[in-house]
Amino acid sequence: MVGRGFGVTSGLTGRATEGGLPVPFACEDDDGTLNHSVVSKQRAIRCALGRICGICGETLTRPVAFFGPEGEATTGLFTFPPTHLACAQEALDLFVPIGGRHLGQSEAPLTWALITTGGFDLIRPTRRGGVMQFRPNSIIEKTIRD
Ligand SMILES: [Zn+2]
Repeated sequence: MVGRGFGVTSGLTGRATEGGLPVPFACEDDDGTLNHSVVSKQRAIRCALGRICGICGETLTRPVAFFGPEGEATTGLFTFPPTHLACAQEALDLFVPIGGRHLGQSEAPLTWALITTGGFDLIRPTRRGGVMQFRPNSIIEKTIRD
C-alpha cells in the first residue's frame, strides 16, 4: 500500500469505511466495491498467492492467523484469508462486540475462533460460483471469542 512504512502492520487504520466501519482488505474488490459480509474472490486469491494479510493488505509474517466462526476452526477450513496476528486481534476487538455480518461472514457467527499456524493451503471451489477457502497446515494456538 502507498504511504505505509515497510514491514509495519497498520491493521484497519486508513482502510476505506462502509457504514462507519473500516472495511478489511479482503472485503474490498479491486474496483473499489466494499462489502463487510463478503470476501472478494480476487482478494482471496491475492492474499493466498502473494502471502498478503486480509485485513491490512501488507505482507504476512509468522505466525499466520486465521479467524472465523468456531465451526470453521473445527473443520479447519476458513473463508477469511490469512492475517497478521495483531490485525486479527484488532479486527475481532472491533467487530465481535458489534455482531452482525462482518469480516467476510454471510451469517453472523455466535462464537468466533482465532488460530495461529505456520502455513496454509488455498482450497479452490470444486463448483462454479463456490467460495475460496483456506486450510491451515496445523493449528499452533486457538482462542475462542464470544
Ligand atoms: Zn495485517
